[in-house]
Amino acid sequence: MVQDLNGHYKLLLGLSEPWKIETVDLSIVSSEVTITIAYPKGVTVACPGCGTHTSIYDYRKNRSWRHLDTMQFKTIITCATPRSNCDTCGIKTISVPWATKGSGFTLLFEYVAISVIKHTSSITAATKLLGLNWHQIQSIMARAVVRGLEKRDATNTIEYIGIDEKSFLKNHTYISNLYDLDNGRVLDVVEGRKKEHARALLNTIEPELRGEIKAVAMDMWKAFMSASSEILPHALIVHDKYHIKSYLTKAVDTARKREHTLLLRNGTHILTHTKYLWLKNKQNWTEQETIKFKELKSTTLKVSRAWAIKEAFGQFWTYLYPKSAEKFFTKWYFWATHSRIPSIINVAKLLKRHTPGLLAYIIHRITNAVGEGLNSKIQNLKANARGFRNFNNYRTTILFFCGKLELYPQ
Ligand SMILES: [Zn+2]
Repeated sequence: MVQDLNGHYKLLLGLSEPWKIETVDLSIVSSEVTITIAYPKGVTVACPGCGTHTSIYDYRKNRSWRHLDTMQFKTIITCATPRSNCDTCGIKTISVPWATKGSGFTLLFEYVAISVIKHTSSITAATKLLGLNWHQIQSIMARAVVRGLEKRDATNTIEYIGIDEKSFLKNHTYISNLYDLDNGRVLDVVEGRKKEHARALLNTIEPELRGEIKAVAMDMWKAFMSASSEILPHALIVHDKYHIKSYLTKAVDTARKREHTLLLRNGTHILTHTKYLWLKNKQNWTEQETIKFKELKSTTLKVSRAWAIKEAFGQFWTYLYPKSAEKFFTKWYFWATHSRIPSIINVAKLLKRHTPGLLAYIIHRITNAVGEGLNSKIQNLKANARGFRNFNNYRTTILFFCGKLELYPQ
């Protein structure tokens, strides 16, 4: 019976000769099963450095690994791991077949934990389901990401990438993300949004793949533009249309605030409670907002003109040929710069300075929309905000959920 149980665990853990299960201890009181694994004396070991077979130098003191529960019993594996004695590499602790280096969990446990974390998309839920603390979950995720990055196929060509910045902490800290737009995944994340950070990020792309990149989507952000021109001189810069839309929306809001203040001084309340009307997409208006809009449209309000200019710009993205898009832009630019609305004139001038990156969209039609998907995923995870004070944990989380990595151990 004991032999059967030992054999059962040996099979379960995938142990091969000469590893053997020494004892299986069941403690009813503490609801634990402890499996002791041994590596017999007098057998050779493979040096983890070079693979040469050497004699055993000594044994390390007992260490434990958490394994999958047996029924409801917490299952712990313990082992005194032998150290090799290699002439070339010196004395080294050999690797064990049931766990990766530095992990306190068996591979099978990590496998299940990764599935649980992936499916719950919540670190808090995963801690409860797995009976682990936050740091233990974070360590499993970090190892999974390292494993995934190592296994990532560095020879796969990518034609379209994107780079953008996101706020990380409340005190004006930023991160920059690099996206593979072909496959909708995050390639890497760095802390900061200056040129040197963008450079570091773009340098993570294998040098032999850089020539294959056709275009990079980004905001009209000088640091990113100049880093991209430097590292990917052949790639076109495409300004992200969602960023441009948000500049225009902001300009409309500024126009509303200005005009509202002036009107209030004259005792006119026509713009009261209209903030969201101008910010929302037309199709998301409530019935009341639609009525209000009709009422405002017939007036000569500046904000209504600003809004019309913003809406009209949407047509730019629909052109199929850069020449037609350019023609449209010239007309739109004239209208916008003659609007006598300072916030709109500013954005129009900003767009004018970035015309090449706008027209490049007509050729390549890429955006950083993948970054928005990432935002909503991260939003869910932000419930565990304390962990995100640390940039490395944040990067791990982003790559774990949005990196499309092969996270599981073999
Ligand atoms: Zn060696």
